[in-house]
Formats: sequence, structure tokens, C-alpha cells
Amino acid sequence: MGWFGFGRGKEKAPRRRRVWGIRRDVLHMVMESARANHPNEFGATLRAEKGVVSELILVPGTLGGDKHAILPLGYLPVDSSIVGTVHSHPGPWAIPSDADKQLFNAFGHTHIIIAEPYNENTWIAYDQNAEEIELDVVDE
Ligand code: ZN
Repeated sequence: MGWFGFGRGKEKAPRRRRVWGIRRDVLHMVMESARANHPNEFGATLRAEKGVVSELILVPGTLGGDKHAILPLGYLPVDSSIVGTVHSHPGPWAIPSDADKQLFNAFGHTHIIIAEPYNENTWIAYDQNAEEIELDVVDE
């Protein structure tokens, strides 16, 4: 029994993906950028260090317009520290559209959608298959 308990706890603890967290200041930058661009969408790519999203990289051509944000793949940096994308949904649902799913599948493995009112409770992270994932918010 003791062995079971011990081993199980040890194995269960790190249910970790390559990217398992996001720095709180980066999350706040996402919230502020989404608010600043409202009612338009805001989009950026995410850079991670040691498994934690640590930087937003703005992609030229993603801002403005009242249509769904489209990140032009041709402009995306070729850089293995870029792990995915973030964009806002001016509306209450942080659910990926068909275009979002295509983007998730085509680029990176860690994606975030933030919906109105753009706070710490209105974002959802997804993997490349548009399956929901958990990202810990990390205080530096
Ligand atoms: Zn979207």
C-alpha cells in the first residue's frame, strides 16, 4: 500500500506538456492588447522558455480590420522558441472557429484564445488539435 501511494503520487504530479505554463505578466499583456484592439481582434505569436510562455511576438499584418484575425503564416517567424499563437475573440466565447483550428494545426502546438471581457477567467488554451489544455499561470 505504501509503495502504491508513494509511486502514484510521484508519477501523477508532473502531467506536463512541452509547454505547461504562461507567465502572469504575459497573460496581462494579452488581456491589455485584447482590450486595446476591441472591437477588433488582436493576434500574436507566443515564445516559450523552459516550458513557460514568456513573450508575445507581434506579427505584422494581424491587427485591425473587423474580420476574424488571420495570422499570415508567411510572416510567422521560423524559430523553435515560438510555440503557437494567441488571439482575441470580441465576444463571450473562446471557442476556436474552423479557421482557428486550421491555424492551430498548421503552426505550433500551444494556442490561446481570450474572449470578452478579456480577464484571467476568459481565456482557454488549446493544443494543435484544438483540444483544450491547461496552462499554469506562473508568477516570476
Ligand atoms: Zn478565433
